[in-house]
Amino acid sequence: MTRTAIITGSTSGIGLGIAEAFAAEGYNIMINGFGDADEIEETRARLEEMGEGEVGYHGADMTKPGEIEHLVKQTEARFGAVDIVVNNAGIQFVGPVEEFPVEKWDAIIAINMSSAFHTIRAALPGMKERGFGRIINIASAHGLVASPFKSAYVTAKHGIVGLTKTVALEAAEHGVTVNAVCPGYVLTPLVEGQVADTAKARGITEEEVKNDVMLKAQPTKEFVTVEQLGALCVFLTTEAAASMTGTALPVDGGWVAQ
Ligand code: NAD
Repeated sequence: MTRTAIITGSTSGIGLGIAEAFAAEGYNIMINGFGDADEIEETRARLEEMGEGEVGYHGADMTKPGEIEHLVKQTEARFGAVDIVVNNAGIQFVGPVEEFPVEKWDAIIAINMSSAFHTIRAALPGMKERGFGRIINIASAHGLVASPFKSAYVTAKHGIVGLTKTVALEAAEHGVTVNAVCPGYVLTPLVEGQVADTAKARGITEEEVKNDVMLKAQPTKEFVTVEQLGALCVFLTTEAAASMTGTALPVDGGWVAQ
C-alpha cells in the first residue's frame, strides 16, 4: 500500500528536502507553499520522477483555516487517505519585542503554530479510523530554548512542541504518533533572510552573524542539512518508530545540550 503524505511549505528549503526524501521512498505526496507557478510545477514533476508515488500540489495559505481544511480534504479525495502530515510551513521575523510589528506577530503565530492545529484537526479523524498516522511537526531548537529578538518565533515553536505532546497523548491508542523535529540552523532561504535582519538588529556584519551568532550556538560548527532532516522524517514514518511519540527531537549539532 502506498502511503500518502502532506508536507506544508514544501516549495522551498527544509520542506522541499523532506519532500525529496519522501518521494525517493515512493510515497504519494501533496506539496504546498508559495512561489512561481511554473517553478512549482517543475518541482512537482521532478519529485514525481524521483519515485513510484504520485505528487500533487495544493496552494493553501497556512494563515487560512478554510484553505488548510481544503488541502486535507482534497488530498484524501485524490489519494484515498492522508497517512502522514508534516507541518513545516514557517516564516521568521527578527526584532526587539517592543518594536515587533503586530501583523508579523499574528502571521508567525498563524503560520508557524496554528496551521498545525488546523491540519491535525482535519487529518486526525481519518488516521484514527484507519489505525495509522504519523504527524511530524517541524519545530526548531527555538522550540526548546530562546534567543533574543525572536519573540513570536520562539513562542510559536514552544507552542508547537506543546501541541505535539498533547495530540500524542490523545492519539496514542490509535496507531498515530506525533513528534516534533527541532532543527538548529539550516542554510535555507529563510535563514539567508534572517542573516541580514539579525545583522541589522545587532549592528554587526552578515559574516559575524553566521560565524559568531548562528554557528556559535552549534558546537559542531556545521549547518544542519535538509537531507539529514528528510531522512529523520522518513524514519519517523516507519514501524521502527511506532513507539516514539510526543517527543521533541533536536537535530542541532549539540546546541541545546549546552
Ligand atoms: P523557507 O523560507 O525556505 O521555506 C518556507 C516554506 O513555507 C516555503 O515553501 C514557503 O512558500 C512556505 N510558506 C510560507 N508562508 C506560507 C503560508 N502562509 N502558507 C503556505 N506556505 C507558506 O524556510 P525553511 O528554512 O525551509 O523553514 C521551514 C520550517 O523549518 C519552518 O517552520 C522553520 O521555522 C523551520 N526551521 C528552520 C530552520 C532553519 O535554520 N532554516 C531551523 C529550525 C526550524
